Amino acid sequence: MDYAFVAGALDRFGELREDAGWLRTRFDDDLARVIVLRGSREVLLAQPEPRLLSIPLPLLRERFEFERFVYLGEQDAHTLFALMLRDEEHAEFLAIHSAVTAELRAAAMNLPPHEAGLAAFASSLAYWQSRSRHCGVCGAHTLFSAGGHRALCSNAACGAAFFPRTDPCVIMLVHDGERALLGRQPSWPEGRYSTLAGFVEPGETLEDAVRRETFEESGVRVGDCRYVGSQPWPFPASLMLGFMAQATSQDIRIGREMADVRWFTRAELAGGAVKLSPRFSISRHLIDTWIGG
Ligand SMILES: [Zn+2]
Repeated sequence: MDYAFVAGALDRFGELREDAGWLRTRFDDDLARVIVLRGSREVLLAQPEPRLLSIPLPLLRERFEFERFVYLGEQDAHTLFALMLRDEEHAEFLAIHSAVTAELRAAAMNLPPHEAGLAAFASSLAYWQSRSRHCGVCGAHTLFSAGGHRALCSNAACGAAFFPRTDPCVIMLVHDGERALLGRQPSWPEGRYSTLAGFVEPGETLEDAVRRETFEESGVRVGDCRYVGSQPWPFPASLMLGFMAQATSQDIRIGREMADVRWFTRAELAGGAVKLSPRFSISRHLIDTWIGG
């Protein structure tokens, strides 16, 4: 799969990063590098080519304490950390490193897929951290450990631990063999259509979610569903689970959250008149796969 936000060959060392001593050895590695975000939604890019800004860790170690860095993992024999800048630190970084700031979604269009994957990983963690500063059980403030992947309640009598969450979301190309069912949301530009999608609810299988969401958004019934692949979708913390789904009815009743839902033939979709999702998305991958037969 060549869609974005798939971190590829990154080895996260999920067990070892629990070991603070081991994590310190990664932090002391002079070859380690750091990608840089502003808050959780923007990423710093090197110029002129659109690549993630990647700063040698020794340049930052003196200034920023260990706890500010999030451990991402090991890739191509390099240790990778992420640093989330505060607003007052941001302008200085742009000047020193001749960098520019880009919103994550826009950056994903131009970055190599594995770099968009790293940015997505870091941004989802940053988003989670920004909303995990207090314990959900007793309200005391939390401390981040395990390289930023765990929030631990600072109240020893409580000791609750919290981990980054991912929200599963089904996304489906519903078809009747000859036509594909696509919809558009009210906020989208005129003429843009995409696959239907929606969040999985507690107690629901993925296949049930495909059938429920399709029916809610279009009134169309679905039978067989076939899992195709997944894509992390860091807006802010979803995991898109892609399906090909066979329709068992044709009549459309447009759901409340949709501006339009229509059937399209392969010729209509391949002809360019319909504005489809960007190439880096699993939605586009599903549509292109279906057009290709
Ligand atoms: Zn607590």
